[in-house]
Amino acid sequence: MKTKKYDTIVIGCGGIGSGAVYWLSKRAGKRVLGLEQFTLGHHNGGSQDYSRIIRLAGYDDSMMPIAPDTYATWQEVERESGVQIITKTGGVYWTPDDAPPGSSDYMDESVEVMNEKGIPYRMLDAADFMQEFPQFKIKSHYKVMHQADTGLVDPSKGNAAHQQLAQGHGATILENCKVTEIRPISSTKTEVVTERGTFECEKLIVTAGAWVQQLADQLEIDLGLVVTREQVTYYRTPNLRDFMPDRFPVFMVPTPIGGIYGFPVHGEVATKVAIDFTGEPTTADGRNFEPDIAIEEYQEAWLKEHIPGFLGPKLYTKTCLYTLTKDRQFILDALPNHPNIFLCVGAGHAFKWASVFGRILSELALDGTTRYDLSALTLNRPAITDPNYDSIILNQIKARNGK
Ligand SMILES: Cc1cc2nc3c(=O)[nH]c(=O)nc-3n(C[C@H](O)[C@H](O)[C@H](O)COP(=O)(O)OP(=O)(O)OC[C@H]3O[C@@H](n4cnc5c(N)ncnc54)[C@H](O)[C@@H]3O)c2cc1C
Repeated sequence: MKTKKYDTIVIGCGGIGSGAVYWLSKRAGKRVLGLEQFTLGHHNGGSQDYSRIIRLAGYDDSMMPIAPDTYATWQEVERESGVQIITKTGGVYWTPDDAPPGSSDYMDESVEVMNEKGIPYRMLDAADFMQEFPQFKIKSHYKVMHQADTGLVDPSKGNAAHQQLAQGHGATILENCKVTEIRPISSTKTEVVTERGTFECEKLIVTAGAWVQQLADQLEIDLGLVVTREQVTYYRTPNLRDFMPDRFPVFMVPTPIGGIYGFPVHGEVATKVAIDFTGEPTTADGRNFEPDIAIEEYQEAWLKEHIPGFLGPKLYTKTCLYTLTKDRQFILDALPNHPNIFLCVGAGHAFKWASVFGRILSELALDGTTRYDLSALTLNRPAITDPNYDSIILNQIKARNGK
């Protein structure tokens, strides 16, 4: 088969890759190819569901300058497609008495950054909070931070809109087309071998999620990633009206086993809850889809105490994958020995960033530069390069397993 040539190829059309194909296609149309090993919209990776949190609160100085563009880029996709992808619900956060050490620092730091950046938020005492949001039951001495821009971004709509608009701009997306080999030919040419033929490109973007190390091995790079199987649960609450997006905010609260977070009714006629980073380490191809009942029981006990009306018969629990760096910061960088190959890893909290990371990757591929300071996301940092890096992720897993 004749090798087909493209300016840019994107490996992996999940959340971030679909964003990259879209933003590339707006400028390079037919000269863009996206490759996906499964069917588009599959449930094997990290990006298929009805809701992910999008927020302005909770970032450090390195990410705050880019955070507003997580909204702006999705809003550009909404404008072009007419599809609503973001729903602002407001977001609430409090630090309970049994929160792990350092939780209040997180709140204090995000408040400090929001003050610095002039991002509006409200601090409510418990009585005012429960008056405004009677769904919640919290202790009278708690303080609650409310940020109005927090909400949900809908991956099922966002991914599809990115993919279909990209095809509308002339890009090609091949499904069920697994990349089996990456062959760097020169600093300006790479061959991409798939189960359905070989392609050639000047620039290559790798957004392979939990499978990324399989490809990085071929380029002799160890990213030191940890893949975990996480889960979310939908409950068929009978109190639907009280839990609709216009009345119920996204919540994020630290618990001794991880941050519990939840969403109003969206996608399913059900509320949704999950506890961050409670999943066991696994591999992208070796993972199972079995829910962890102990986590379900923990969240249900927490909800019974704090948001009793949220619950109802369980609709289902869905599992998906985190691809965690050892410092839980994103990776967005060119490979040290291959300046024409770019890599992006979402570290378990990147869906809200999928469109802006897509735009940044398109700017790096087409212009060789981007408007943002990405130094925090470099491959050249201890969490990636130092095998003895003191990793919060590995330490938490060890602690969880009593080591
Ligand atoms: C339970 C859960 C809750 C989350 N909550 C939030 C949240 O509230 N807010 C938020 O912002 N983020 C959240 N995230 C994180 C976010 O969903 C992920 O960081 C993001 O979706 C990862 O996108 P990705 O494109 O890197 O990975 P994926 O979407 O998994 O995409 C990788 C793609 O590459 C393909 N691929 C891999 N190897 C190959 C190959 N060799 N050839 C061809 N294709 C290949 C895969 O099939 C896949 O489609 C959550 C994640 C989980 C699991």
